[in-house]
Amino acid sequence: MNTPATSIPDQKRIGMVSLGCPKALVDSERILTRLRADGYAFAEDYAGADVVLVNTCGFLDSAKEESLAAIGEAIAENGRVIVTGCMGEEADAIRAAHPQVLAVTGAHQYEQVVEAVHTHAPPTQGPFVDLIPQPSENDIKLTPRHYSYLKISEGCNHSCAFCIIPQLRGKLASRRIDAVLREAEKLVAAGTRELLIISQDTSAYGVDIRHESRDWKGNPVRAHMTDLARELGGLRTPEGTPPWVSLHYVYPYPHVDQVIPLMADGLLTPYLDIPFQHASPKVLKLMKRPANEAKVLERLKSWRDICPDIAIRSSFVVGFPGETEEDFQYLLNWLEEAQLDRVGAFRFEPVEGASANALPDPVPEAIKEERYARIMEVTERISAAKLAAKVGRTLPVIIDEVGEPDEDGDIGATGRSQADAPQIDGAVYLRNVPASLAPGAIVNVTIEDSDAHDLYGVIAG
Ligand code: SF4
Repeated sequence: MNTPATSIPDQKRIGMVSLGCPKALVDSERILTRLRADGYAFAEDYAGADVVLVNTCGFLDSAKEESLAAIGEAIAENGRVIVTGCMGEEADAIRAAHPQVLAVTGAHQYEQVVEAVHTHAPPTQGPFVDLIPQPSENDIKLTPRHYSYLKISEGCNHSCAFCIIPQLRGKLASRRIDAVLREAEKLVAAGTRELLIISQDTSAYGVDIRHESRDWKGNPVRAHMTDLARELGGLRTPEGTPPWVSLHYVYPYPHVDQVIPLMADGLLTPYLDIPFQHASPKVLKLMKRPANEAKVLERLKSWRDICPDIAIRSSFVVGFPGETEEDFQYLLNWLEEAQLDRVGAFRFEPVEGASANALPDPVPEAIKEERYARIMEVTERISAAKLAAKVGRTLPVIIDEVGEPDEDGDIGATGRSQADAPQIDGAVYLRNVPASLAPGAIVNVTIEDSDAHDLYGVIAG
């Protein structure tokens, strides 16, 4: 269970189990915000909830299994369960496994979820509850207060062969730029120190609305990733400092080059999450992805020339149908050249409804495993060398958690450098921090040690 608790008595209480990616987490926050506006409170455990919402992920078959297991657990622990999210598109499968669920709604069907909650746990009426102020759209956050995901669009216009997101979430639908900026401004005013820009395809932002301009503080601003990044870089926290702003799920379009100078100028965090998925032109073509990997190497070099500290995270699929040993070796060689900072690898898994399933020459499971082990070995070695090169440097670190004093009275803390996104990248472990240090603080840290994924250091004197 991962809902924030409130203490107003006699309200109906909602439990929320939120599975899946940061995009689903943002949906959960929106649903909870609406429910709170309707007078509901939130339960921290199954026992305290009048009804439990399970926000599911249906991206991979393994995610579907996890979703079904979470629904089963909620039914066993509480019994009154409403299902929403990506897997909600497969209501029949959910009802076949768990006939007791009260209602099933799909991704982004906020009205339907709220309606289902109203039906199965009608809100308490009364002067006390009716006086609850209407919260702003982002009042409820499931992430710690110091960082927030900012979702700029839904859906995707691509048709990568391994992916069913466009079927699940539809074509690209961008939010208005002024609405996005207003949300960002409110988040920063309320304590957010790090904004993570997310969508299914961040670099396509605004394409569907022809990059329409909206007035923002007296000036026209286009719905375009570069304009958005520039405006976000101009935000200031109540202390007058710029928040960290990073771009995630960026598709390798040529115009991505335009945001690199913003990183060099300090308007954007020098971090780019850009899933390349493979390097072999043949496999990329089979995946229906842009297949100009040699150009990508040139672009990486020019990005590093402009912004030497840029950290590039990417993800790759191994064992895609038709991937030969030669293709895989091509990918490994490419990675040796590309020297990416952070890499996630996935073994290809056929997802029901994906066009890749019809491709010939599936890669046997044992070979997929072997390739996965090999890519991990290469990327861990690169990561370890890149992190070792940071030892001795002083880097800004955002604090996520501060520990309790140990037997010697020393307090440790965990934070992240600008090269680390929450939950997916590494951490910076600090020793001997002052007791006054709080999550969300940004401090300069001298790096003393490193390993394959993480850094270790002390606040610079
Ligand atoms: S760009 Fe991303 S979301 Fe869109 S089809 Fe490809 S993998 Fe799926």
